[in-house]
Amino acid sequence: MSVAHVLGFPRIGSNRELKFAMESFWIKKINEKSLRDIGKEICLINWDAQINSNMDYITVGDFSWYDHVLSTLVLFGAIPTRFKFNPRKINLRKYYIMARGDKNHLAMEMTKWFNTNYHYLVPEWSPDILFKGDATWLFEEIFNAYTKDKKIKVVLLGPLTLLYLGKIKYGLSHKLDLLPKLLISYKNIIRRLKRKDISLIQIEEPILTLELDNLWLDAFKKTYIELGNYYPFLLLTTYFDSINKENFFYLKELPIYGIHIDAVYGNSQLKNFLKFWPINKILSIGIVDGRNIWRSDLKSAFFKLRPFYKKFGNKLWISSSCSCLHVPIDLKYEKFIDSEIKSWLSFTIQKLDEIFIIKEAFFGNFYKIIKYFISSEKIVKSKKKSIRIHNNLVKIAIDKIQKININRNSTFTKRIVIQKKNLNLPNFPITTIGSFPQTSKIRKLRFNYKSGRIGYLEYLKKIKKEIHFVIKKQEEFGLDVLVHGESERNDMVEFFGEQLSGFGFTFNGWVQSYGSRCVKPPFIYGDVYRPKVMTTYLSEFAQSLTKKPVKGMLTGPITMLFWSFVRNDQEKRITALQIALALRKEVRDLEKAGISIIQIDEPALREGLPLKKSKWKEYLKWAIYAFKITFSFVNDKTQIHTHMCYSEFNDILNWIIKMDADVITIETAKSNMKLLNNFNYPNDIGPGIYDIHSPRIPNVKEISNLINKARNFIPDKNLWINPDCGLKTRSWKEISSVLTNIVKSVKNIR
Ligand code: GLN
Ligand code: ZN
Repeated sequence: MSVAHVLGFPRIGSNRELKFAMESFWIKKINEKSLRDIGKEICLINWDAQINSNMDYITVGDFSWYDHVLSTLVLFGAIPTRFKFNPRKINLRKYYIMARGDKNHLAMEMTKWFNTNYHYLVPEWSPDILFKGDATWLFEEIFNAYTKDKKIKVVLLGPLTLLYLGKIKYGLSHKLDLLPKLLISYKNIIRRLKRKDISLIQIEEPILTLELDNLWLDAFKKTYIELGNYYPFLLLTTYFDSINKENFFYLKELPIYGIHIDAVYGNSQLKNFLKFWPINKILSIGIVDGRNIWRSDLKSAFFKLRPFYKKFGNKLWISSSCSCLHVPIDLKYEKFIDSEIKSWLSFTIQKLDEIFIIKEAFFGNFYKIIKYFISSEKIVKSKKKSIRIHNNLVKIAIDKIQKININRNSTFTKRIVIQKKNLNLPNFPITTIGSFPQTSKIRKLRFNYKSGRIGYLEYLKKIKKEIHFVIKKQEEFGLDVLVHGESERNDMVEFFGEQLSGFGFTFNGWVQSYGSRCVKPPFIYGDVYRPKVMTTYLSEFAQSLTKKPVKGMLTGPITMLFWSFVRNDQEKRITALQIALALRKEVRDLEKAGISIIQIDEPALREGLPLKKSKWKEYLKWAIYAFKITFSFVNDKTQIHTHMCYSEFNDILNWIIKMDADVITIETAKSNMKLLNNFNYPNDIGPGIYDIHSPRIPNVKEISNLINKARNFIPDKNLWINPDCGLKTRSWKEISSVLTNIVKSVKNIR
């Protein structure tokens, strides 16, 4: 029998119930039992949704109290040893100490889950890990799932991916040294699952889509020969890209039940699978996009899968491309989206229906579902023509812009002389990254305005008052290049998206970013353009309050792109160019208004990197092209800044140089300036000297030490002094001390 299934369901709850429950547990407002009851309730609801949408299996084990990688570590007894917890007895209190730290422990490090915006906790490998785990949560979940009287599929993150994603802390020469012990732990759990009559394990090895070396590939082969012989019902699961060619051929020899592949982001692997995948093994194809919010084009899905149906018959299974963790839960909460645009969208619940419909088209009664194909076809057709999407003027402008010279008039050496004269800054200019504390007063002000409680003029008056306050404060501290503080911005992407055509917003479209933190990304549905100026009014106002330069603040095209759901009917490159063009107009207006320094933030540049390194160059080329479009025309005396954070930049340093910003401010405090070791940035640079994520206030001496460290790598004339990132999450009390200390140490050094 063929199967319709989903790789995973969002676990945060349709009204973020898990988020609020976790947070209440952390402040001891509810106890562990209440939190676990809420988690159980979410699972039951998620399974009901799968049953209602006619999935053939319910997916179990995709739930997690914070992060699925940490939960996997608990399950297999591979938690970091530095916490000194008995790995066989992990309760939620201990679990959250590992995830979030406490006064005695640093939290586990967090990093991005492949190329998504989900963040996982990084495993910490050392030789003393016992691999004797606590399986209570998984078996409780299974026990609860039994009440649904439906076939169960258990999800496990696979051993190779688990090892690969971790970091060696000490005492090991290779991560794979831990594999034998880890495998024993896997077999233990699998044995227990067998005893519970679990008939399918979805074992996930997304690293198969990376370019692995032979050591890992050999380990792969051995592992799955061993596990497959031990338990025949493994659905080896990959997603986010195509399985690398080199990894493909031995896969079909493995003693596994079947494989799941991503047909949305790994389209190119389909022809190989059609040709070479053995017909006696399951081939689960992820045809419904689990990472984006667009409704499926059912007809094209049907035709894509038809040859597979012909060859594999009911060994062909239909699924989501990856777990739906990355998309919101249900479109039904979206009451404010324009009905035409809404008809283009599909969240988790709608995606389950699509999976079922596609399966029915092959294996069920086609006439029963034909109406869905007809309406899907209508939508596809209307999207091709809709004026909400297509704007000819934008298309013409994009054609033109691809032919212009994106380099500035003069080289940096020449520009900087003119800029220095114009700006008249001291050595080691001190600046901040843009935002100042977002107090509850400011949040309330924006909320009152947005909900219509106060009018625009009153809102503007109060925002201006705030800007005035922030400017005066910075003068008091003695900073050299000021900012207006971004009090009018709720979020650096949303603020611009709301003013640009082509961007849409959801009311309840929450997606888990990490732990209890959720984001509500905008979606880009149409050609992007700027109907009117966005920032000059307040920038000009801020500049009018002081003799010191005030930076104009923009979010760059790549960050706008990657922190939104993007169009799937157009190359990302083109969408980025459209945003860049809109920003280019804004830069022109800022320059005309007399703003002498413009900062274009690109914290997400690195996030866009493709999973396969061989594709990096192509991406970086267009990304940097789009970035440079935004300002290439400016006068030599206008100084362009950019800011980056959240990631390691070591492997793309040369590309950062190519961005040719006059000044780059970058996150380095946490890593103790390590980045600078091999970074010969030719222009001006401000390595962050204050970690804004930490409540610790560095004293004058520490700051001076960091600055002096930076001076070992960077010539004094190029060195700027600034925090790691925006100050919006800190309090005024904290930043007053920090900025005072920074100014003191800079004065000493000067
Ligand atoms: N200008 C933004 C701020 O200061 C930059 C934020 C970021 O890099 N994420 O908040
Ligand atoms: Zn930042």
